[in-house]
Amino acid sequence: MEFKPFKDITLSRLGMGNMRLPVQTDQPDMPIDRVKAQEIIDYAIKGGINYFDTAYIYHNGESEKFLGEALGKYPRDNYYLATKFFILTNPDYKAVFEEQLTRLKTNYIDFYMIHGIFDHTYQQYIDNGCIEYFLEQKKEGRIKYLGFSSHAGVENLGTFADHHKWDFAQIQLNYFDWRYASTKQEYEALSERNIPIMVMEPVRGGRLASLCPEAETILKETRPDWSIASWAFRWLKRLPQVQVILSGMTTLEQIQDNIVTFSDVPALTDEEEHLLMEACDIFRAQVRTPCTACRYCCDNCPVHINIPQVLSVYNRFRLEGSWALSDLDNLDSETGPTDCTGCGACTGHCPQGIDVPAIMEELSDMVRRRPDK
Ligand code: SF4
Ligand code: SF4
Repeated sequence: MEFKPFKDITLSRLGMGNMRLPVQTDQPDMPIDRVKAQEIIDYAIKGGINYFDTAYIYHNGESEKFLGEALGKYPRDNYYLATKFFILTNPDYKAVFEEQLTRLKTNYIDFYMIHGIFDHTYQQYIDNGCIEYFLEQKKEGRIKYLGFSSHAGVENLGTFADHHKWDFAQIQLNYFDWRYASTKQEYEALSERNIPIMVMEPVRGGRLASLCPEAETILKETRPDWSIASWAFRWLKRLPQVQVILSGMTTLEQIQDNIVTFSDVPALTDEEEHLLMEACDIFRAQVRTPCTACRYCCDNCPVHINIPQVLSVYNRFRLEGSWALSDLDNLDSETGPTDCTGCGACTGHCPQGIDVPAIMEELSDMVRRRPDK
């Protein structure tokens, strides 16, 4: 395992995320499969991982409880615990913090985070007094390092980063978002302030663990022995401000592959990075519908579906997974994919030749299969 100094301690470059632990899919509330999850934790410890990340809300609160039990058999100074306070779940920061200590069976948290700085939450965190309280806990030794995790835009990220001298920050960072979202600017904002970065979503919730065949061919021809996911981790090694790279590992195979990747494997070369970006562009082009939102189709739809908006949700669904489908509940039109009659009136007017009825049908199936529908 590779390690990197952090202040007066040393952290493994690979951190164990505990948001996607294996679950018992045959049970209605899909509880954590504690036997399989314990195997992963044991493998992580044996492989040298010493940073374990969780949150009050992961697995509906069960992640913290599980981790308290799973790590309880190891000496407390063998690992570092990271967890988070999320204001929207429960704003009572004092009660949440005490409950977390109980759940995690510990009397201190190594890395404590304000969870989920969004454009609509960062001011709430500043106003509710939690930051001052957590700073007091830090003085008392119940928190060792205080930081925050962010999904906010660059401007609000900067504002929050300047509120206090934070020990670290956690952001979503991967080569795809570096190329197509504001991740590069977020990284630079934190680097300018010399705030060490914990990386979340290094493989974008697993979407970068397998690309389309054309993109994978480019990578496999160059490095047949590397997994596709390992390219994402090796790319991150190029960034000096990165401290720990978290991976939410669900299977033993994933953790085995990741531990190999973090065993003295060098960062990507410039040439390899160039190839990765080429593959990234191909992947993105293939998974997205090329809708330009020109709306030429809209006037022809007999049930008045906001077609480009639905296609935008579809693109996010293809890139980010089924959670993006919840945006179908907030369409500007009263009708959605399940109202599509399949008449095809839209397709003939689409300059991009998008097979809209086929996409509507696919989305309808997905919507009907959603557990809350
Ligand atoms: S196929 Fe569906 S989306 Fe297209 S015009 Fe007909 S009803 Fe509207
Ligand atoms: S006509 Fe085609 S490109 Fe234009 S908004 Fe409709 S689906 Fe999108």
